[in-house]
Amino acid sequence: MAIRYELLKTCKQTGARLGRVHTPHGSFETPMFMPVGTLATVKTMSPEELERMGASIILSNTYHLWLRPGEDIVEEAGGLHKFMNWNGSILTDSGGFQVFSLSDLRQIEEEGVHFRNHISGEKLFLSPEKAMHIQNSLGADIMMAFDECPPYPAEHDYMKKSVERTSRWAERCLEGHQKPDTQGLFGIVQGGEYEDLRQQSAKDLTSLDFPGYAIGGLSVGEPKDVMNKVLDFTTPLLPDHKPRYLMGVGSPDSLIDGSIRGIDMFDCVLPTRIARNGTCMTSQGRLVVRNAKFARDFRPIDEQCDCHTCRNYSRAYIRHLVKANETFGFRLTTYHNLYFLLKLMRQVREAIREDRLGDFREEFFEQYGFNKPNAKNF
Ligand SMILES: [Zn+2]
Repeated sequence: MAIRYELLKTCKQTGARLGRVHTPHGSFETPMFMPVGTLATVKTMSPEELERMGASIILSNTYHLWLRPGEDIVEEAGGLHKFMNWNGSILTDSGGFQVFSLSDLRQIEEEGVHFRNHISGEKLFLSPEKAMHIQNSLGADIMMAFDECPPYPAEHDYMKKSVERTSRWAERCLEGHQKPDTQGLFGIVQGGEYEDLRQQSAKDLTSLDFPGYAIGGLSVGEPKDVMNKVLDFTTPLLPDHKPRYLMGVGSPDSLIDGSIRGIDMFDCVLPTRIARNGTCMTSQGRLVVRNAKFARDFRPIDEQCDCHTCRNYSRAYIRHLVKANETFGFRLTTYHNLYFLLKLMRQVREAIREDRLGDFREEFFEQYGFNKPNAKNF
């Protein structure tokens, strides 16, 4: 088995799990946040910087690498790890989410999905077997099953058909996966906000005995209390001895609330995307560094942060760089935001170890401003 999960401890206060995931490229403690490196690069960061900030697993996108440079080139380079010079763990998604969100003119059939390349307009086809073939060529430690990602909200009837198709596709993914000894394949539980469909999806997928399970179809525009409610009834359906991955979630409040509900792994483009817009996550809430009020502010972005950016550079300097569109400014904000979330997950793990994640949540939410009415989402 390529992937093994060790449950180290359960928080007495909240039920959150402290664990360790073992992969062919090292182990990492969970709950863990995975920075997103869409095109085999976490935008503006070098693999050496990612290592220095404490990242141990990153995510890369199958759909994007399939189109550019092509999985055959990555395979010829010796796989994704060698191609991008990253020796930690890598997870690749199945391409499904991008096919359903980026391309228009798609046609879903039992065999797979016909759609147009979002760059060239060329007609393409992605199926469970094709998604496995591409991911086997890329060679990530963890691969994801090809699933259908229905829009939110979706009617119960449509969602039921979609869940059933996703289960049939999951079986085809297992059959098509050529390297189970070196790459672990995770199944994805779908079902939207419907408890009966989440139950059906979890039952179908757990019967196939994947080495890990993801919860998909959340963080797609639904309110946070809906997401938490879905997690409340979905995570207990998943086996204790396998990792659980909540896809596409990366705001600080959701990372804590997801951990409390038994999630082990998270990913999201949020910290890197907002960084390139000059927005930072800090212990006091979000800070838009391009604002005029920081022009003469020579304090670090976050006075409680000990990252490379905060130890060496001021708000005024970073504001100047970001305003002038200087790449270095975006490197500094990206480094800080990723460090902030990786550190938050370290704090969450520490709190689980000490049975006080509920108290930590209260303190963090208070300081960050999540308890205020109309608080921003991150
Ligand atoms: Zn910092």
